[in-house]
Parts: sequence; C-alpha cells; structure tokens
Amino acid sequence: MATLAPDLTAPLTDSFGRQIRYLRVSVTDRCDFRCRYCMAEAMTFLPRAEILALEEIAIIVDRFIARGVTKVRLTGGEPLVRRGVGELAARIGRHLGRGLEELTLTTNGSRLAEQAEAMVDAGIRRINVSLDSLDRDRFAYITRRDRLNDVLAGIAAARAAGLAVKINMVALKGLNEDEIEPMLRWCAAEGHDLSLIETMPLGRIDEDRSDRFLPLTLVRKRLDERFTLTPSSYSTGGPARYWTVEELGVRLGLISPLTENFCAGCNRVRLTVEGRLFMCLGQEDQVDLKAAYRTGGIAAVDRAIDDAMRRKPLRHDFRIAAARPAVARHMSVTGG
Ligand code: SAM
Ligand code: SF4
Repeated sequence: MATLAPDLTAPLTDSFGRQIRYLRVSVTDRCDFRCRYCMAEAMTFLPRAEILALEEIAIIVDRFIARGVTKVRLTGGEPLVRRGVGELAARIGRHLGRGLEELTLTTNGSRLAEQAEAMVDAGIRRINVSLDSLDRDRFAYITRRDRLNDVLAGIAAARAAGLAVKINMVALKGLNEDEIEPMLRWCAAEGHDLSLIETMPLGRIDEDRSDRFLPLTLVRKRLDERFTLTPSSYSTGGPARYWTVEELGVRLGLISPLTENFCAGCNRVRLTVEGRLFMCLGQEDQVDLKAAYRTGGIAAVDRAIDDAMRRKPLRHDFRIAAARPAVARHMSVTGG
C-alpha cells in the first residue's frame, strides 16, 4: 500500500482540528530533587544508552519548527543537570525569529545561578521556576533536598540576567496551602508571576496523591473572599488560565487539569529524552521518533510526526482518587 507523503507546508493539525504549535522537550529524566508529588526517593532513571544525544534532540526539534511549531520549552527531569544543555538551547535558539517565536525553560532553579546567563544568550527570555514553599524546612520536606537558598539565588540570578520569572507552585493539601497567599505577596513584591498547579496522577510515588490533592476551585474560592480576581486575556500558549489579583498587582495562573478540563484548546505535544513523542500528558499512546530517525532519517521522522497527529487523543482521563496513577510514567519523563 502506498504511504501518503507528508504535506510539509501545512501546519501540524490533529484529527480534531487543533493546530500543534507547542513542543515540550524533556532533555533528561534525571533530577537533583525528589519532590514528593513527582518522584519516589528511590527513583530509577533511564540507562544512558537509551537516551537521545543532544544532536538528535536538536534535529527532531528542527523538524517540528520546520513544520509550524512556534514555541519550544526545555524541561525534564531537571533540564539544567544535563551537560551541554546550554549548547542545545543555543542551537534551538537560532530559529528564533525564523519560525520559532519563543524558547522557554522550566527548571527547579537549583543550578540557575550558574546557568542563567547561558539561557539568556540562547535567546530565552522567560522561565518557569518551581517553588512550592518559601519555608526552608517545608521546602526540604517537599523536595527531599535542603536547597531553598540555591533556588532563591538562582531566581535572583535569573532576574539579574534579564529573565522574566513565573513561579510554579503545586498546591498541596495540608502542606503548602497556607502559603498560597504569602507566595502571592512574595511574587508581587519580587515582580514574578505565579501559577498554581493541581497534582496530577502521573507515575508511582511513595505516597497516595489523593491525600494531598487540593482542588484549585477551592483555592480560587478562598482567594475570591480575600482579593479581587479579574480574568485576564493573557496567555502563554500553555494550559494556565490567568487572573490579575488587583490588590497586589500580580498575575495568577491556575493550571487545573482535574477540576477544569482544558483539553479542547490543547496545542501541545511532548518529546521525551528517549525520543518518544507523547501526544497527551495523560495518555499512554506514543510514537517512537528515535527509532524513526535512526532507521529512516528525517523523512521517517516527518512521517512519524504525521502519524502522531492522527493519533492525538481528544483529552486526558485523569482521576485523582483512582487506586493507580492514570499513567505509569512520571511527569519528569514526559516533561512537565
Ligand atoms: N524539574 C523541573 C521543575 O521542577 O520545574 C522541570 C520538570 S517538572 C516535571 C515540571 C513541573 O511539573 C514542575 O512545576 C513540577 O512542580 C510539576 N510536577 C511534577 N510532577 C507533578 C505532578 N504529579 N502533578 C502536577 N505537577 C507536577
Ligand atoms: Fe525534579 Fe522537577 Fe520532579 Fe521536582 S518536580 S522531582 S524538581 S523533575
């Protein structure tokens, strides 16, 4: 049977008519933290032999940009622990203004102090930094690493280097829910945006996520009692919906996949460091771009990308109270 040649000029569009403009790239599944909602303490990482070389990542990213992806986010695992990530960022950054509109990074901040300048040199202008608590003991409990000061120094270095910072805070029942307002105030004072995230059932961890699940609908209700939240038309192309907290002049994003499904507007796919393309964070189906590239080069990658577009599912199927995680792989593998 003849295979259809991909139309390399049309934007990538899935079978529900959604255009795919946003690629998230997990440049490593490894991490120097062990956040309780993300990983087990005894996490097993991929053998090095199975991961894409940085050059292969760059070639695959090139194909997505050539085919209409305008935004790329480097993530992980912790992207800044992979040696050579600065060169990879610079290589991808060469497409800025030539198809690529934005290159961004999500990091835990532990190594930002040393690497913020390199990220700016690569063309990155905005980063997300995960910070679930400003209290040293709680931070150490949640991440299982006593590194709050490194993260704060990293954020300060990022700002000094000219990067806009959005803080990502996973809302955790009984763990940091009383810190949401202080975090908002701190972000307002420091000039950062803040996004709150619901815990998602991805990968086995050492505890039951439902014990810590805090619905953002409830957080929103509590904030509404204290502040004026005005809906904002601001969008970063990601899943967050934004509000302005008028009294503080801070922008607040809410990422609530469990309580307010946002799949209808999904414009994203995710490349893992093993070279698998996941069309949905919350589904198992994937297309093996590493195998495609290694056996058939760029043409095979293009065909595989088209196949992925046809297979992108309508929506995730997260349920927090299910006995098992919705998908077995961790967020650090697929790339948050
Ligand atoms: N290591 C980097 C970091 O922590 O920012 C980048 C990767 S991390 C997987 C990306 C984001 O996903 C972080 O903001 C993290 O808090 C969030 N995250 C990790 N596991 C999650 C889960 N199960 N549910 C919701 N968010 C999660
Ligand atoms: Fe590492 Fe980020 Fe997962 Fe925390 S959330 S363990 S920093 S990958």
